Amino acid sequence: MRRLLMLGAFLLVVASLLVALLHGGDSSAGSTARSTAVPSAASTQARRVPSPPASSSSNQVIENSSRCQVTGPPSERNLVEQLAELCQPSAATVDNAWGKAWAKGDGRRTRLVIAANTQALAGLLDREDTKGLADTAAVTVGPEEAPAHAVFINGPAFDGLSTLGRQVVLTHEMVHVATRATGDNDAPTWLEEGFADYVAYRHTKLNADQIAGDALDAPLPESLPTTADFNASGSKAAIAYGRSWAAVRVVAARVGGDSAMKRFYETAAQQSLTAALRSAGFADTAAFVKAWRAEIRQLRRT
Ligand SMILES: [Zn+2]
Repeated sequence: MRRLLMLGAFLLVVASLLVALLHGGDSSAGSTARSTAVPSAASTQARRVPSPPASSSSNQVIENSSRCQVTGPPSERNLVEQLAELCQPSAATVDNAWGKAWAKGDGRRTRLVIAANTQALAGLLDREDTKGLADTAAVTVGPEEAPAHAVFINGPAFDGLSTLGRQVVLTHEMVHVATRATGDNDAPTWLEEGFADYVAYRHTKLNADQIAGDALDAPLPESLPTTADFNASGSKAAIAYGRSWAAVRVVAARVGGDSAMKRFYETAAQQSLTAALRSAGFADTAAFVKAWRAEIRQLRRT
């Protein structure tokens, strides 16, 4: 079955923390962001594949760079131009983690489509309502079992982000594009989201509390995040992202190196999580959860 999937939505409640960080790390701004209600976004599945605006559309601004084609309304001209520039370092970060095979041929340029408002974003997603979209910074979309079509950008949400925040969100989404382009579409959601965050954050100077504060503040988890956890509202979604980031750190530390991390991901997507965990030396899921809880305890102290 081929249907549109929102492959990964980066929620503004996570990204907005970065705004405060770049402007002096005002903790009150950070806690405000954390408490922002984030209705479900990733749970929504549109009914058909959306059609990003044609490049010849006269009322759209189009900017091409070596790795992206960015399209947006004239009101977002500055963002169109900036994303075309930010695309190159984001793509290079993804290349380092995932190799360069994902960006060959037609996929050489990732399509970034900026929506002027949540109504326009809902239109791109073929949704009848805008529920949750105000708090969604960006979303990678595409049919099941196929490379991603595009990354839709929530223009007003991005306008409110720092340059660092924009870079992190863009890199996160381009990780989703890369993993899908190489056919790894069936990894557990926590691994998809955690790996995207792991790659997007690791070259920043942000510390664990800045990246995953909600997850570190929450009680220790008993089990790995489910897909539904990412659809939760408010800080619960941020907790799911942070916990998943921590889980991928555990894997990365165990397997060592980007190519080994990629093999783990591919094994989880193509075989099973159990097989992937065994390949990394974990006897079973319970053993991995134990190591993950220890990692969260450790991160709380840093
Ligand atoms: Zn994502």
